[in-house]
Amino acid sequence: MSETDSENTETGSDFIRDVIREDLAAGRTDGVVTRFPPEPNGYLHIGHAKSICLNFGVAADFGGRCHLRFDDTNPVNEEIEYIDSIQEDVRWLGFDWGDHLFYASDNFERLYEWAMHLIEAGKAYVDDLSADEIREYRGTLTEPGKPSPYRDRPVEENLDLFRRMRDGEFEDGARVLRAKIDMASGNINLRDPVIYRILHTDHPRTGDAWSIYPTYDFAHGQSDAIEGVTHSVCTLEFADHRPLYDWLIENLPANSRPRQYEFARLNLTYTVLSKRRLMQLVQEGHVSGWDDPRMPTLSGLRRRGIPAAAIREFAGLIGVTKADSTVDWVLFDHCTRDLLNTTALRRMGVLRPLKVVIENYPEGESEMLEAQNHPQNPEMGTRQVPFGRELYVERDDFMEDPPRKFFRLSPGREVRLRYAYFVTCQEVVKDESGEVVELRCTYDPETKGGNAPDGRKVKATLHWVSAAHGLPAEVRLYDHLFQREDPGAEGDFLDDLNPNSLVVESSVLEPALADLEPGEVVQFERQGYFCVDPDSTGDARVFNRTVALRDGWAKAKKK
Ligand code: ATP
Ligand code: MG
Repeated sequence: MSETDSENTETGSDFIRDVIREDLAAGRTDGVVTRFPPEPNGYLHIGHAKSICLNFGVAADFGGRCHLRFDDTNPVNEEIEYIDSIQEDVRWLGFDWGDHLFYASDNFERLYEWAMHLIEAGKAYVDDLSADEIREYRGTLTEPGKPSPYRDRPVEENLDLFRRMRDGEFEDGARVLRAKIDMASGNINLRDPVIYRILHTDHPRTGDAWSIYPTYDFAHGQSDAIEGVTHSVCTLEFADHRPLYDWLIENLPANSRPRQYEFARLNLTYTVLSKRRLMQLVQEGHVSGWDDPRMPTLSGLRRRGIPAAAIREFAGLIGVTKADSTVDWVLFDHCTRDLLNTTALRRMGVLRPLKVVIENYPEGESEMLEAQNHPQNPEMGTRQVPFGRELYVERDDFMEDPPRKFFRLSPGREVRLRYAYFVTCQEVVKDESGEVVELRCTYDPETKGGNAPDGRKVKATLHWVSAAHGLPAEVRLYDHLFQREDPGAEGDFLDDLNPNSLVVESSVLEPALADLEPGEVVQFERQGYFCVDPDSTGDARVFNRTVALRDGWAKAKKK
């Protein structure tokens, strides 16, 4: 990301904001009203966050307002659970719609009247063709469509049939209402699109009041107009719907004139951003739920410990363009680390413990040592960490037969224990299978605090936890949910699931972590950022790794 790019996002410059500036300057609008219009058929994901940040951000920049509108026109997949979670997630992201909470279903009566209006104007008709026939008659990109035999039904007959559709007289799929536009149009969306269908399904909000429901195309722009939205911003796949959006607004007695603008949706490597696929992951049990910390959902990211501010920062960095692209997950991790690096308190946690016995430390004794909460920021204070004869260090911090450049513990080697002492490995204890189960070490009492008075140096500083005081905890280490950058690019996306996306370790943590608040993220030194998972109960603690630190050793090993 170059200097200029990040400056651009800070000053809020993108083509949507440019359009708005021009509209305001030319007097085409005297205010800015945007909306975020989710369909309540799943949980929000980080792609939605891009749209939320854009819509709410634009409104804030221009002193306007942003509505939260549920596009609830398809009762088959919609549920109150999703309505609730969406509101929670938008608020958590840091945005406020104030009194401007709307539902497309609030407009059902008006939309029905507007449909009648189109029929009366000879611009809509009831069609008895089946869904398959309609598809067949529609033609293709290279062939024009042909008119339905019902296209020229008299207005009176259309009015009567449409009323009876509403009254529930016909079965699902028996008839539809179509706008009468142009069966030969080069834009297939204008070949008499369906605007109402029969569905004898209860709606989460209107119950059994309706047996017909408007389609997306006959509800979305109409709701925009009813709410007085000025700039209706959506993703590129709706660009082909724009002529229909405009045609409908022009032909309806709407008293405001919203305009649609399209931007590129967010695609991210190593994940999927489609509610349908995310739903499948949940329903088939590939993850523990919508809020599984491996999910790209806002509830999953929140549970994983990602701060809302990191998501907002990410949305700003990627910007808003008209060209589809895929953003590297690395950039998102960068935003998370960047933020947590300054905010997170430092703690010590040993993820894969290896026992260390300090042979010359008095048995049964312990002492408290001072440790900094943030080495780069003394204002964040200090804490006391207990030290004793038996400790745990990280299994990976020991090698019996170290290669060159491995400077951590090995037989005969002296290292620093952070905030404590220099220790030297004297002996390696193994079990019957030959696995190292314990290190016998000695410490130098002169090195308290981690410095030798004689000025001698060590090449490694390790984190550690006192065995007598440490808190046992289950630690969940996450990796990408998929092992391919582009899941599903060559077959079923489920075949690309990463079998190692969750690794559970039995860890030992310093006692200060007993009181970590839910939602607070700390850094386990040398390991990454962690938070408490809601699965924790009493002393059965569960921690999630939000994101790892970049591991210099792992990188060197690869080279
Ligand atoms: P999905 O493709 O995940 O099923 P959707 O587009 O059907 O999502 P909606 O509830 O209709 O979900 O989305 C609400 C708003 O969020 C829409 O304006 C949509 O364009 C936008 N949106 C959805 N996915 C993304 C994305 N990946 N990047 C940016 N905006 C998105
Ligand atoms: Mg959609």
